[in-house]
Amino acid sequence: MNSLLLNTDGVQIPQLGYGVFQVPADEAEQAVAIALQTGYRHIDTAAAYGNEEGVGRAVRASGLPREKVFVTTKLWNGDHDRAEAAFDESLTRLGLDHIDLYLIHWPVPRQDKYVQAWKALERIYRDGRVRAIGVSNFTVATLTRLMDETDITPAINQIELHPYLQQRELRAFHEANGILTEAWSPLGQGKGLLTDPALTVLSDKCGRTPAQIVLRWHLQLGNVVIPKSVTPARIKENIDVFDFILDPETMAAIGAMNRGQRIGPDPDTFN
Ligand code: NAD
Repeated sequence: MNSLLLNTDGVQIPQLGYGVFQVPADEAEQAVAIALQTGYRHIDTAAAYGNEEGVGRAVRASGLPREKVFVTTKLWNGDHDRAEAAFDESLTRLGLDHIDLYLIHWPVPRQDKYVQAWKALERIYRDGRVRAIGVSNFTVATLTRLMDETDITPAINQIELHPYLQQRELRAFHEANGILTEAWSPLGQGKGLLTDPALTVLSDKCGRTPAQIVLRWHLQLGNVVIPKSVTPARIKENIDVFDFILDPETMAAIGAMNRGQRIGPDPDTFN
């Protein structure tokens, strides 16, 4: 498993992880157990997903040393002014003694509390209860303000990113500022994207599935990716992407699929 270096104290993040958005609480433990057995070493959850308990149970029951599994969770929008308490609650639900990466889930500009929340995350980081801190769904504008008004540059920004929404300006901003790009809905939620003829022709050419081609494209761009599936065969298919390389023509063909098309909410207005 390939890992990338975060901008904090030599911490490494496995480049491919397992996301559990919309995995019901009573299924999360088994889904994460299968992912860990299949070789995933990075799990992405959030307080808002309502499944931290199941994630934590699977991590603890896996028999893997704690330092071998990278666990991310996120601060929900209504908790921006009580981030330290919300962090402790996540830790309790996970049943872990530390979290590897804690993210502000959405900036919620209308609420205007993300700077205050970030200062709390800085305190949690300095106390050693989290190995790295970052954000999610931040734009160039909200990231710039955060960096101007606080001390620590986010290690990562987790954003909607797939071939239909390639986020070139934001990725360049991240690169210029030492922030890793993490792609959510990396498969475009599996909807029209994976049956798009522009992609299936590449899948036929490379002899790999459309999902594998898309995940490989992310990895070669330098993105962290967290595909989700509860189907064991797909969980395996989605991690089986480290033994082939897309040539420059294939990368360019996927690059040409950009439509600037979101599946999820607009970060400027969400909540
Ligand atoms: P995704 O792009 O990972 O798509 C998941 C869906 O694609 C599955 O439900 C399944 O229907 C399909 N799929 C998965 N593997 C497939 C395969 N090999 N072949 C065919 N179809 C396949 O979308 P997602 O779940 O929205 O995003 C992944 C993760 O990103 C989430 O689980 C969550 O951890 C994170 N996320 C974060 C935010 C945020 O605001 N930070 C928002 C959404 C998701």
